[in-house]
Amino acid sequence: MSFSKILLSSPHMGGGELKYIQEALNSNWTAPEASIIDLFEEDLECYLRKGHVTALNSGTAAIHLGLILLGVQPGDIVICQTMTFSASANPILYLGATPVFIDSEIETYNLCPIALEEAILDCIQSGKKPKAIIAVHLFGTPYKITEIRNVADKYGIPILEDSAEALGSSYKGQMCGTFGDIGVLSFNDNKIITTSGGGALITKNKKVKEKSIFLATQAKDKAPHYQHSEIGYNYRLSTICAGIGRGQMEVLEEHLVLKNIVHQFYIDLFKSIKGVTVYEVPDDNFTSNYWLTTIIIDPLQTNGIDKEMLRLALLQANIESRPLWKPLHLQPVFNKYKYYGSNVAQKLFEVGLCLPSGPILSNADKDRIRNVVFNIF
Ligand SMILES: *Cc1c(COP(=O)(O)O)cnc(C)c1O
Repeated sequence: MSFSKILLSSPHMGGGELKYIQEALNSNWTAPEASIIDLFEEDLECYLRKGHVTALNSGTAAIHLGLILLGVQPGDIVICQTMTFSASANPILYLGATPVFIDSEIETYNLCPIALEEAILDCIQSGKKPKAIIAVHLFGTPYKITEIRNVADKYGIPILEDSAEALGSSYKGQMCGTFGDIGVLSFNDNKIITTSGGGALITKNKKVKEKSIFLATQAKDKAPHYQHSEIGYNYRLSTICAGIGRGQMEVLEEHLVLKNIVHQFYIDLFKSIKGVTVYEVPDDNFTSNYWLTTIIIDPLQTNGIDKEMLRLALLQANIESRPLWKPLHLQPVFNKYKYYGSNVAQKLFEVGLCLPSGPILSNADKDRIRNVVFNIF
């Protein structure tokens, strides 16, 4: 097959990036204290309209620092949505804490508030209140903000909001990333904007932001020599990457429009195909960036065509697709930890597929996808 590969989520440069990288180089100061990082943070704060932003070198680093700032210690319990990317939960283990996994509800595919409360009560009963809740906006869909906040507040447990996939998504007009006690963004290559690897922490006040920068830059105490009274990390975003980020902020709105067009393309494409449902947000309070458009296939209504057959047919045409994220409690590395729920996430994993959702999906690409879909169904 001579067609080029259509990727699940390809990065897209807007054109302004080189200018900002040049500015970073011209400043003749490529150490991470330089001000282009501050400017990228200001761009993000302006966009989010709430909170203080610390630019870091990955979303994973942001989750790690976020848990540290929430006081997570070895032996603590941290609750985490099971249907998510492994990076949501890995930092729990970096810290020697214990994850407890929670099922999804069917409307947003995110944290189920009922299973969440059940888990919290169980933990409290066995003598250990969870230290934090990691809630994720999977594929760009906001989790049930009000319900999850109510449960968290009822028991006084802070929320770490993993908004790695949800920059530009919102709930009742408020931007994702600003709902948690601490929020996290990712600027990895495949995310809604990229810094060629990067992330951010969103905090409620200046003091916590300063503490996060302190920890992210090797925890250097104020002294003429190198003086340390805490363990530090090398987690700050580089100036060059911040330059790419400033350029990408100029095309964020355009990316959101393009993602929506891709989502609409799939709604139209599958409208006439029985047994295939394109995911849509539950109501107007939820705005998804549709980072990835996902579908669910019911083989009983498609003459036995299931998500794996569609995936293979797409692959044969050099088109990438991927099952919905495999629940973490089913992963070999996490399956010894507790899980609460009724296997909603597992069922979604079994029947769901993520479709190519890059912002630069061309008409020719769409034709190729349409052909595979019409051929198989
Ligand atoms: C990508 C991603 C992360 C990790 O971000 P990186 O910048 O790749 O380290 C964390 N959580 C979720 C849900 C993600 O999709």
